[in-house]
Amino acid sequence: MKKTVLVSGGAGFIGSHVTVELLEAGYDVVVADNFSNCDRTCFEGVKKITGREDLPLEVMDFCDLKAVKALFGKYHIDAVIHFAAFKAVGESVAKPLMYYKNNLESFLNVLEVAGAQPGGCNVLFSSSATVYGEPDVVPVTENTPRKPATSPYGNTKTMCEDILRDTVKASEGALKGILLRYFNPIGAHPSALIGELPRGVPNNLVPFITQTAIGKRECLNIFGNDYPTPDGTCQRDYIDIVDLARAHVYAVTRMMEGKMKKDCEVFNVGTGRPVSVLELVNAFEKVNGVKVPHKFAPRRPGDVTAIWADPTLANEEMGWKATRTVEETLKAAWAWECHLAQQKEAGSDDTGKATSLKDQILQAADKANEAISDAIDKVKEYSALSPEEKKAKQDEWNSKLTEAAEKASDSVKDIVDDIKEGADKLFKGKKD
Ligand code: UDP
Repeated sequence: MKKTVLVSGGAGFIGSHVTVELLEAGYDVVVADNFSNCDRTCFEGVKKITGREDLPLEVMDFCDLKAVKALFGKYHIDAVIHFAAFKAVGESVAKPLMYYKNNLESFLNVLEVAGAQPGGCNVLFSSSATVYGEPDVVPVTENTPRKPATSPYGNTKTMCEDILRDTVKASEGALKGILLRYFNPIGAHPSALIGELPRGVPNNLVPFITQTAIGKRECLNIFGNDYPTPDGTCQRDYIDIVDLARAHVYAVTRMMEGKMKKDCEVFNVGTGRPVSVLELVNAFEKVNGVKVPHKFAPRRPGDVTAIWADPTLANEEMGWKATRTVEETLKAAWAWECHLAQQKEAGSDDTGKATSLKDQILQAADKANEAISDAIDKVKEYSALSPEEKKAKQDEWNSKLTEAAEKASDSVKDIVDDIKEGADKLFKGKKD
């Protein structure tokens, strides 16, 4: 019988590529996403690539425990790959609570429900090389000590690693876990039907390069050219997204086939090949025959000088190896950016945008509903108090009622903002 893999955050950049590879390897997949950081473009792309029009999609938030329980009740899930998390480093510094709440709560819910499945469950967590911080020695192996994270985002990765390890240990065999530590995933599917869709100004290097090459951005800033590296710019281990996605198939199969050596294992997912920012920009220009206007800018706070993987363990233990060249990957990244430009030209990205906009508004409406009900409850509670009680706790009630009213009002504003943002998005393309 076919095994079923749940991919949380399956409509995003990495999740959509993983879904394609799992389907092509013969697994059944359930995609779950709340579309908080992506639209339907990649989900639709996955269906086109694989010909699976019937691919199940659950629009849900993993912070909602009831919804997670219902999901596991609806499908028999053999393994979960958990991507559903916020990922912008800078935003996490500005909004730490939002990151801790979302990234930890969603994973705790997955573990709670997966751990209670009769027959157990396999959990694969998408971790990151960010857990190594600025390493003392490169390349890094899985035994390289983790360093304190420099952002709340990085901290959630370290914390989720520990949470998975502890939970697997306590589950006495019910749960098995694999932590995959990604280096820098870049590129797009060779079909150019799925790829990275950054919201607003991209933080990551490759989307910034492709957007500059196509003319959406004027100039790429190369952050720092005075690092102690061969050309003065930072070095990273850029890994092709399809190679990275395939590592998940190897990991899931390893869990399903009972080949794990420990109940919780960790693997670096990288190429073992350091590439500097400048080398990447030059390679992009050369392989695609386009210019990427760029200039040197000051270092970006928090950037590590150089990090790349020693992927020996994943190569030897899982039998997985990255195979695509930097040139192939940069060609795919460019083909994806060109595909997006064509879609925009033809106006055919409107359907995806409209559907995800609808999801976003419905979610905002649910939140508003909750906030308004809460405010009404508080008013009722206050009205039921005796005059003496009202008088004794006047200050406390004033702030309680004001807070509830403000929350209700903010949540309605959120709906209005979503509608405005959506209208802007849909009509901007037409004006350009
Ligand atoms: N980078 C850059 N300009 C940009 C974005 C990134 O020079 O607009 C550099 C960044 O300083 C780092 C490398 O590109 O050295 C990779 O950055 P990215 O954000 O893609 O990944 P990170 O390794 O920081 O997670």
